[in-house]
Amino acid sequence: KSKARLARKETSTTTLDDVAGIESAKREITEIIDFLKSPQKYRALGAEMPKGVLLVGPPGTGKTLLARAIAGEADVPFFSISASEFIEMFVGVGAARVRDMFLTARKEAPALIFIDELDAIGRSRGTGLGGGHDEREQTLNQILTEMDGFEPHENILVLAATNRPDVLDSALLRPGRFDRKITLDRPHKEARAAILKVHARKVPLAEDVNLEQLAARTIGFSGADLKNLVNEAALTAAREDLEEVTAHCFEVARDRIILGEERDAHLSP
Ligand code: ATP
Repeated sequence: KSKARLARKETSTTTLDDVAGIESAKREITEIIDFLKSPQKYRALGAEMPKGVLLVGPPGTGKTLLARAIAGEADVPFFSISASEFIEMFVGVGAARVRDMFLTARKEAPALIFIDELDAIGRSRGTGLGGGHDEREQTLNQILTEMDGFEPHENILVLAATNRPDVLDSALLRPGRFDRKITLDRPHKEARAAILKVHARKVPLAEDVNLEQLAARTIGFSGADLKNLVNEAALTAAREDLEEVTAHCFEVARDRIILGEERDAHLSP
């Protein structure tokens, strides 16, 4: 049996400056942060903010990073669980964890709750063999119950990440639940350059390094891949006893990552 950890609580120091290339989602994000910071402003206008927002995008596009940045910018506590942890647990444990997490978050409101890999438990119900009583389904039901059980004025925001919005149970998407969506795509060229800049902030770059050019040559890389690229390049420089990270280091790193992915693709069934 996997021993899932309790819901984690942290104070996020991540800010929007750490998230690059997400211009299209920025307005929506700014509004969410503003709501968490000054809920009374919205209440005075009779405006109801969403309880749940779905972060949709392929792996490594910064969904977790963005959730942390929202909590960091709004300066509210960040509670997180990964839905995939519940799959192999004893029946009832997942639901209890969810209940506890919402209870604690409500005591500390305004607060942000982050559910990673929502699709792991949020797939359409009634298709499995559990007959509605398996762990996955109980956990999902508990999330629905919790989301219905607090009012918008309680200032709890639930963010959930998924790369499979198509398989989600429609009950999750009803009004008052995850009725808003922020989509994070694989970064295009300018976005890749911006992401490279973020990760190169603390890296001494040699004069021959051109991040724009590098962005043009990393088609298909996700934010996580780009972070990895910068780190691999820095490690290469260290290995070669350099004091700066050169264009050559980035070439070595890029080849390494591309070859690594080809090998992984080859190995997977
Ligand atoms: P997964 O679906 O695999 O959980 P995710 O979408 O939650 O992925 P993150 O875990 O947030 O992705 O991304 C991994 C790391 O990649 C981040 O911690 C960050 O360092 C880097 N990264 C991803 N996207 C961006 C971005 N837009 N700007 C800057 N860094 C990014």
